[in-house]
Amino acid sequence: MAKSKFEYVKHFEQHQTLLRNTWIVVRIDGHGFHRFSAEHDFAKPNDIRALHLANEAARGVMLELNDIVFAYGESDEFSFVLKRDSTLFKRREAKIISTVASLFTAHYVVNWGKFMDGTAMKYPPSFDARAVCYPTNENLRDYISWRQADCHINNLYNTTFWALVLDTTATPPTTTTRAQEILKDTTSATKNELLFTKFNINYNMLPEIFRKGSILYRTREKVAVKEAQDGSSVEREKSLVHVGHFDVIGDEWWVNGSGASI
Ligand code: ATP
Ligand code: ATP
Ligand code: MG
Ligand code: MG
Ligand code: MG
Ligand code: MG
Ligand code: MG
Repeated sequence: MAKSKFEYVKHFEQHQTLLRNTWIVVRIDGHGFHRFSAEHDFAKPNDIRALHLANEAARGVMLELNDIVFAYGESDEFSFVLKRDSTLFKRREAKIISTVASLFTAHYVVNWGKFMDGTAMKYPPSFDARAVCYPTNENLRDYISWRQADCHINNLYNTTFWALVLDTTATPPTTTTRAQEILKDTTSATKNELLFTKFNINYNMLPEIFRKGSILYRTREKVAVKEAQDGSSVEREKSLVHVGHFDVIGDEWWVNGSGASI
């Protein structure tokens, strides 16, 4: 294409390239979801529909970007892990994070009606994104463990908090401020105990998706794609994306499970 005299402005661009031979983790997080979840009547502490919607959006991202080996999601955030030798967008940071964030947002909006049965979207959600490079497998595991520990800590707090606030037998009703005061500086053991004795909730019996978050991972499987001329089906290796809610802090998935291939 012919160059115009304006073309020189292109040289002002600065490209941040993500360090090669490292795991690239892109974490997206919902903007102002405290308000977004309230405005859209998310169930508290966990709206299962919204979690399934986020998982579907993340699946959409993974189906589009094959270099993502797995993803971990909780609350309004998702972390996507790109393989070490990824050359996606020549590892240009801005291209990678903006594409992940916009793909996720687009899939979240497109699938809203399918998951949020009848709740109208009042205003468009948005997600920010950052990328962090982790040089060792241990760093990567610790990163994922950090997010799952965060999921657990927040979920235990939120479950206890909302049990107090939504308790219809309390006179006077427990305000959010009062619930915060009650839970201030309490240990996990105290919260578990409070849930069990006061509300008959065994924390460990709550759905795993709430307690452990969601892991999206791939397997390669032979699938029948179409019928050949002689009527037999043709098999092709296809990357399938699965959703699980299991422990990623321990060794199980990384050493014995499908995470071992990462
Ligand atoms: P920021 O823009 O800084 O990220 P935020 O309001 O999104 O602010 P976060 O720390 O990201 O704050 O927390 C997300 C909030 O969204 C949670 O505190 C929770 O109230 C709400 N939320 C997210 N997902 C769900 C869900 N599935 N069910 C119920 N509430 C949810
Ligand atoms: P990249 O992913 O590198 O951006 P690209 O295919 O999007 O690749 P661009 O340089 O961004 O390439 O160019 C966008 C192309 O999209 C244009 O060349 C044009 O063909 C097409 N396009 C964009 N907007 C329109 C439009 N409104 N009508 C018709 N074609 C359009
Ligand atoms: Mg944030
Ligand atoms: Mg947020
Ligand atoms: Mg968040
Ligand atoms: Mg383009
Ligand atoms: Mg363009």
